[in-house]
Amino acid sequence: MFDTLSDRLAATFKNLRGKGRLSEADIDATAREIRIALLEADVALPVVRAFIKQVKERAAGAEVSQALNPAQQVIKIVNEELVGILGGETRRLRYAKNPPTVIMLAGLQGSGKTTLAGKLGRWLKQQGHAPLLVACDLQRPDAVNQLSVVAERAEVAVYAPEPGNGVGDPVKVAQDSVGYARDKHHDVVVVDTAGRLGIDEELMRQAADIRDAVSPDEILFVVDAMIGQDAVTTAEAFRDGVGFDGVVLSKLDGDARGGAALSVAQVTGKQIMFASNGEKLDDFDAFHPDRMASRILG
Ligand code: GDP
Repeated sequence: MFDTLSDRLAATFKNLRGKGRLSEADIDATAREIRIALLEADVALPVVRAFIKQVKERAAGAEVSQALNPAQQVIKIVNEELVGILGGETRRLRYAKNPPTVIMLAGLQGSGKTTLAGKLGRWLKQQGHAPLLVACDLQRPDAVNQLSVVAERAEVAVYAPEPGNGVGDPVKVAQDSVGYARDKHHDVVVVDTAGRLGIDEELMRQAADIRDAVSPDEILFVVDAMIGQDAVTTAEAFRDGVGFDGVVLSKLDGDARGGAALSVAQVTGKQIMFASNGEKLDDFDAFHPDRMASRILG
């Protein structure tokens, strides 16, 4: 992901090298190139507009620097603005004062929630926690089984409805899991919820009911970075239907253009907290805006 964007930006900056001072025309031309590069990468238009405005203003007002040549100065500005649209600082998980901490996952079917539950479970365990993964996706016949397999692989505990015991009622499963976690000394509960391929009112309401039943400390919206512009509309629908506190980007290993990743934080005003970049349990880490910006700028 981001290869084309990186190449395009590198080519733009190359044109600036060797210039002693940037004229207004240089800044305009550069801004135009960056705009095209971002739009081609599928970054949402309002995000591109705001970005270009900032870069232009800052480049025009930049002091002549002894330490940086004009190209370096523009790269520095672009880098700082990229870090900004990616959310600025890294945001860490908020843990409850009285465990268990409840983390609820929401997102479309196929966005990578169940896989993420396993990854997050393993990551939490590595951080010294005792997580419990909870199967509340009762919509997809195989989802409970899939979560159990993922949990086993991650070597973390799972809470799934026994056949005939509350099957079909994800709200009750979520509710019961919190008491179970308390009894069994699990300090973090990760609730996997159902999603459809498209935005679906009934499932949105179900997610909202689960939210109301367990009052999560964190609701994480999981979004497939490969879905391009749809990521923004999906994020807005989940923000309005369920609400969320942070974003998880999945499938950053894909060869899509990555604009989704660059738009969601800015459009929703919520920070990207984790990123997934593969199907394996270890293909996962906390998200660092500065590292991502450096990766894009090469
Ligand atoms: P859910 O329906 O939201 O629970 O999504 P799943 O966790 O079942 O994931 C859907 C598909 O995407 C599965 O085939 C996963 O193996 C795959 N997947 C999940 N995360 C990633 C990722 O970061 N990279 C890649 N390449 N595939 C992923």
